[in-house]
Amino acid sequence: LLTVTDATVRFGERAALDGVDLEVAEHEIVCVLGPSGSGKSTLLRAVAGLQSLDGGRVLLAGADQRGVPVHRRGVGLMFQDHQLFPQRDVAGNVAFGLRMHHVPKAEQAVRVGELLDLVGLPGAGRRSVAALSGGEQQRVALARALAPRPQLLMLDEPLGQLDRTLRERLVVELRQLFGRLGTTVLAVTHDQGEAFALADRVVVMRDGRVAQSGTPLEVWQRPADEFVARFLGFDN
Ligand code: ATP
Ligand code: MG
Repeated sequence: LLTVTDATVRFGERAALDGVDLEVAEHEIVCVLGPSGSGKSTLLRAVAGLQSLDGGRVLLAGADQRGVPVHRRGVGLMFQDHQLFPQRDVAGNVAFGLRMHHVPKAEQAVRVGELLDLVGLPGAGRRSVAALSGGEQQRVALARALAPRPQLLMLDEPLGQLDRTLRERLVVELRQLFGRLGTTVLAVTHDQGEAFALADRVVVMRDGRVAQSGTPLEVWQRPADEFVARFLGFDN
């Protein structure tokens, strides 16, 4: 579904992406791991069309995305700093993408209700997002990203602010949901446990490059190099 070839993004002297190759098959769940500053968010933004490439290309379903604007790429994106619309209530935020996709009102309400249940905020539709905690806002942002059921969903640290119990429950439920809807997922996470539980494949990034790509088991059993091994915590 997604093919990234030799993607390069430079900010001044520094390359945030330095020749990244990545394939994501249809229905596959890929988690991107890597230290802060290794280019994970830049990769997602480049695929979404929020960041232009200095080199290389992004293909979605075989079509080169150069010059294709964000809203025409058919991808969903949840940002690390999940900006909600403060003037809309919780339901208004979750339903935002559904109005754009012309989903009928009744169907919108059903989906919003289901998603709020999923993220552990049942009945919170009329609450103001400004009055929610950081973790609650993150869950609203996750529900908003899931609502339009995009073919390719990209999540940047979707569960970062949540406690362990909620995270572990959501990882299981998200995997089930993605399987049921046939969603292809490219997700960034700092949490190895989360990546290994959620992903069919993990991609470890270092300094704007892919250090290793493989199934969780492969990466765990045979880290490609010392960097990956150390990143996975095998030296302590
Ligand atoms: P984190 O885990 O902290 O979110 P990341 O892997 O997502 O890190 P990126 O946000 O992709 O990292 O950033 C990669 C590099 O590019 C960093 O060195 C960052 O400072 C730089 N960078 C990202 N966006 C910009 C920008 N708009 N202008 C200048 N430099 C940028
Ligand atoms: Mg980031």
